[in-house]
Amino acid sequence: MQLDVIDQPAPTNSDYLPISREHRENDTIKFCQRSADGLEIESVIIPMGGKGVHWNTLCVSSQVGCARGCTFCQTARMGLLRNLTVDEIVGQVRAANQHYGASIRNVVFMGMGEPMDNLENVISALKRLHEDREFQIARKRLTVSTVGRCEGIRKLATLNWRRMGLAISLNAPNDEIRSRIMPINRTDSMAALRQAISEWPLRGGGHVLIEYVLLRGVNDEIEHARQLVEYLRGLKTCVNLIPWNPIDGIDFESPDETRANAFQLELMNAGQLAFQRRIKGRSALGACGQLGNVELRRGRTAKPSQDS
Ligand code: SF4
Repeated sequence: MQLDVIDQPAPTNSDYLPISREHRENDTIKFCQRSADGLEIESVIIPMGGKGVHWNTLCVSSQVGCARGCTFCQTARMGLLRNLTVDEIVGQVRAANQHYGASIRNVVFMGMGEPMDNLENVISALKRLHEDREFQIARKRLTVSTVGRCEGIRKLATLNWRRMGLAISLNAPNDEIRSRIMPINRTDSMAALRQAISEWPLRGGGHVLIEYVLLRGVNDEIEHARQLVEYLRGLKTCVNLIPWNPIDGIDFESPDETRANAFQLELMNAGQLAFQRRIKGRSALGACGQLGNVELRRGRTAKPSQDS
């Protein structure tokens, strides 16, 4: 996705960082804020709802870049530039509200970075988004997505916000595949992750969201769907299937619609809740990342990002 450079003067009240670039696709708006040290913080406003009820969800970043190295992810190619401060995290919501008039109702930590790698600031930001009069976002409308750091999941669970959402970027049905595409799995295995998910404080009727990016020929076989069902058996989860969004320079392929539908059907026939994320934000948003400008590194000038 090519972002358009826009020439916005710094807001006079300095409540949020200036918007440096934006891209609109249908109703989805991806925007970047320029930090004082010349980095760009990416966020996505995603309109949601239907049948006369509409609201906006904001996907926020917790870091610039990411150290986790998932092989299918755009953000991973930047490496980690730095953690965002609490002000920079909540400032993304403020910018969406004030600059775009978006009245953000839901916030998901699915932008750049691994939230558990900046957990202290993420927890402070969550508290401010919930408690500050300015935001007052209900706990059930806050979701943190993680690559699967078990220690971080347990620390976040100590908040005991039973209605807060947890999303796991799983993306594989077994350790062999997951270790190949997600280095985190070499330290936090799927068995350990399963245990951490089982301890997450869910409210009755709630579930943990399992994000699963479908990569053609890697993790999208029917046998993989069956393994996924077995892995999730006994956990309260809902699987969000995300057909991979092609990125220049990353050597994966998207599954076609028939293949993705067959995968979903296999899960559902086995009694596993599952849906597919399509269309909205497809080129703006991936799993717990896929934002990021690989040309933007310390000491370089920012160029338009090339994701999708
Ligand atoms: S998928 Fe998430 S955790 Fe993995 S590299 Fe990308 S942003 Fe980081």
